[in-house]
Amino acid sequence: MNIVQIIDKKRRGETHSQEELCFLIKEMMAEEVHDYQISAWLMAVCINGLNLDETTWLTRYFVESGEQLDLSKVDGVVVDKHSTGGVGDKTTLVLIPMLAASGVKVAKLSGRGLGFTGGTIDKLEAIPGFKTSLPSKDFIKQIQKIGVAISSQTADLAPADGKMYALRDVTATVQSIPLIAASVVSKKIAAGAQVIVLDIKYGRGAFMKTLDEAKELAFTCREVGKRLGKTISTVISSMEQPLGLAIGHTVEIAEVIKTLQNEGPKDLEKLCLTLGAAALVGAGLCETEQEAEGRLKIQLQDGSALAKFKELVKAQGGEVEVFDDLSLMPQPDRIHLLPAEQSGYVAGIDSLKVAQAAKELGAGRMHKADPINLGVGVVLHKKVGDQISEGETLVELYAGDKNVQAALTLLEEAFTFSTVPVSPHVLVDEIFLSTEKEPVA
Ligand code: URA
Repeated sequence: MNIVQIIDKKRRGETHSQEELCFLIKEMMAEEVHDYQISAWLMAVCINGLNLDETTWLTRYFVESGEQLDLSKVDGVVVDKHSTGGVGDKTTLVLIPMLAASGVKVAKLSGRGLGFTGGTIDKLEAIPGFKTSLPSKDFIKQIQKIGVAISSQTADLAPADGKMYALRDVTATVQSIPLIAASVVSKKIAAGAQVIVLDIKYGRGAFMKTLDEAKELAFTCREVGKRLGKTISTVISSMEQPLGLAIGHTVEIAEVIKTLQNEGPKDLEKLCLTLGAAALVGAGLCETEQEAEGRLKIQLQDGSALAKFKELVKAQGGEVEVFDDLSLMPQPDRIHLLPAEQSGYVAGIDSLKVAQAAKELGAGRMHKADPINLGVGVVLHKKVGDQISEGETLVELYAGDKNVQAALTLLEEAFTFSTVPVSPHVLVDEIFLSTEKEPVA
């Protein structure tokens, strides 16, 4: 067996054996194969796919390529949540204190933003002093003590995925259902939680462009999880328009605080309740989604989710004063308003263009090491279905010293209008709660 035979086999659309995938990952980790050979194989996979057995083996060898977090010392059920990446997606930061306040333990490892999607770890850095990188020992200790911890994904967990992802990002091979499933599920398995909830995004601002693709990805993740002994629930949610109103870093943290004060945008709140309910049912704390949503709503209304977020910020060294004074977070140089040029109804807001506008302002990065401006971003005043009058503000643009005009142009292009009423987008399309698990054959 050699790497050229493996590439050729996939190029011809044939199925790999378990041994071939084991060999491929081992050789890659030992640096016995070149990046261009892995890239060629990745492109063959994008074109010809992997079946469920192949995807399961790939996931397993990703997991086995590194450490696995041992959360056995944490009392109670540990849950984890992952999103396949969206625009304005700050659900993690609302959800994890809500879940911890409800009595489950939350172990959250998150990433930085790349491409058009924002990263939770970058957003948290808008809170002065917040430590986004915790050693495993401290991470586990904090979960035990306050029920929740969040840290950046270490390179030691599923490093084979890290290597492949870096190549996929620069060879246009991200967009493959089996590769995304293996990437996401391996990281979640290595991170050690018992209950995993995945938020699979679809639409213009997501890797999966259609609902059917999202359903296939959700099914693949659940099935691979089941075969590897993990309970994975999936929620499919729309990225046809940005989630909530804020896209950026400081602005998104401000929106998280508002949502935890029970005054957040309804779509964001709804998605957090849906994902949270899936986690509480998966953890066995609630019998039904309705019961779980009710319990989570109480955490928002009585201030306990907000108190838990403050506790989390304090535990990780962040300045809790930001809760009373948002101006302690990085600020823009100036704010521009984009007025509506016509009266009518908002018919569409292209998430991708909004993300590109935020990126133009300096809120995103092209390469992993690029600096980002935490104070810039976009705050929408209108969402799909809202009525507008000519001259009314559509968007507030929080600008730094970069590319304001380019950002304004992208935002103008992002909005489409209708003269007749438009129904709001369906946010959650499918919820699949898994409770079974079976060991890999
Ligand atoms: N998120 C991941 O973690 N991996 C992918 O391949 C795509 C999105």
